[in-house]
Amino acid sequence: MKNRNILISGAGIAGLTLAYWLQKWGFSPTIIEKRPDFHDRGYMIDFYGSGFDVIQKMGLVEKLQERSNQYPVKKLIFVDRNAKPHATLDVEKMRELLDHKYFPILRGDLESVIYDSVKGDVPFRFNTSITRIDNQPDGVVVEFSNGESQQYDLVIGADGIHSNVRKQLWGAESQFNRFLGFYVACSVIDNFLGNEDTFYGHFEPNVQATIFSIGGNQLATFFAFRSEKLNVHGRSAQIDVLTNVFGSAGWIMPQLLEATKRTDDLFFDAVAQIQLNEWHKGRVALVGDACQCLTLLAGQGASMGMAGAYLLADELHKADGDYKIAFPAYQQRLKPEIEHRQKDARGLAGSFVPRNNLEIALTHFFLNTAFLPGFRSLFKKQIGARSIIK
Ligand SMILES: Cc1cc2nc3c(=O)[nH]c(=O)nc-3n(C[C@H](O)[C@H](O)[C@H](O)COP(=O)(O)OP(=O)(O)OC[C@H]3O[C@@H](n4cnc5c(N)ncnc54)[C@H](O)[C@@H]3O)c2cc1C
Repeated sequence: MKNRNILISGAGIAGLTLAYWLQKWGFSPTIIEKRPDFHDRGYMIDFYGSGFDVIQKMGLVEKLQERSNQYPVKKLIFVDRNAKPHATLDVEKMRELLDHKYFPILRGDLESVIYDSVKGDVPFRFNTSITRIDNQPDGVVVEFSNGESQQYDLVIGADGIHSNVRKQLWGAESQFNRFLGFYVACSVIDNFLGNEDTFYGHFEPNVQATIFSIGGNQLATFFAFRSEKLNVHGRSAQIDVLTNVFGSAGWIMPQLLEATKRTDDLFFDAVAQIQLNEWHKGRVALVGDACQCLTLLAGQGASMGMAGAYLLADELHKADGDYKIAFPAYQQRLKPEIEHRQKDARGLAGSFVPRNNLEIALTHFFLNTAFLPGFRSLFKKQIGARSIIK
């Protein structure tokens, strides 16, 4: 087999899944990760569809189930500014709709379950980033942030929507980043409600906020809002934006904002898709959000990132490591599907943040009827539940 020695940049869901499958097929992957460790828990994701089938092939369903059991959310209730319920979704019905192949799980838990399954076999270098890539016909010479350099047979950028590998070889992100007109912020705060089994959501025109218990007396928060493109850097500027946008909202927004100000753990980003023509250049390819980001509102980015990693490893395996065959085959297998899902995701993104009271009422109606006969298949299609993994 050719080209065994593979560097993966990014130990997120896609990079870890790729490492798992590459080492399974006899390659020797190494992962570098700019974070110091896996201690951040991230945000809550709905996990189903293609990613679930990949996790099943990896034999990790039970481990994920154990993690997911820590967040015993039974229902989703959407309330108005006076906490009056307007829409309810039953989590058990969601499971039934998805043939019991569904977990609500923290991104960090998904990562750490995959990490545990590969850490004995795959070398990891944390606190490390690539500073230069020399992509030559006979190998890729990479310089790291600690000044060392090393040659690899192949390099894979699995470093997310703001991919460093993509920036170095494809150029500035602005060429590929399609901003959809929303921002999101997430944090983990103390559970001042005491409630353990309900996910609460709240819409006001142009904003959405949700909270859910993640056990350990903690709540995960999610804020989404419509906006022009902002130039916000640093935590205090992000908190200022959230205060401006949500400061006058009803429900328990004032308490949520106060608690968010006290936490160190704030995720804040624009909602965008990544669209680029070629997912590979010479001996370097991209996987996950780096090339196929659907938007974080699509509810299937992690799942499709895992599918991408699985398919990339599969093509390299089938081609005995010949990247000239494997990289285009991987792109051809996945890109049309991603373009299709990106189109659907653009449509869905708007319903996360209704613009006015009529749209809020329609969203509540859609949520209340999602599991009724006649609406079930539409809901299933909208959330991209169809798996592409055989
Ligand atoms: C709020 C929110 C909610 C979401 N909800 C869902 C959901 O319900 N369902 C779902 O399936 N998906 C969801 N997603 C999307 C999902 O989280 C992403 O699609 C998924 O994490 C992409 O995985 P990835 O490995 O490609 O990228 P990432 O998860 O971004 O991982 C990239 C990794 O690369 C590392 N990295 C970055 N730069 C460098 C560098 N220079 N050098 C080395 N390492 C680097 C990062 O630290 C990170 O570990 C959500 C996302 C957000 C933000």
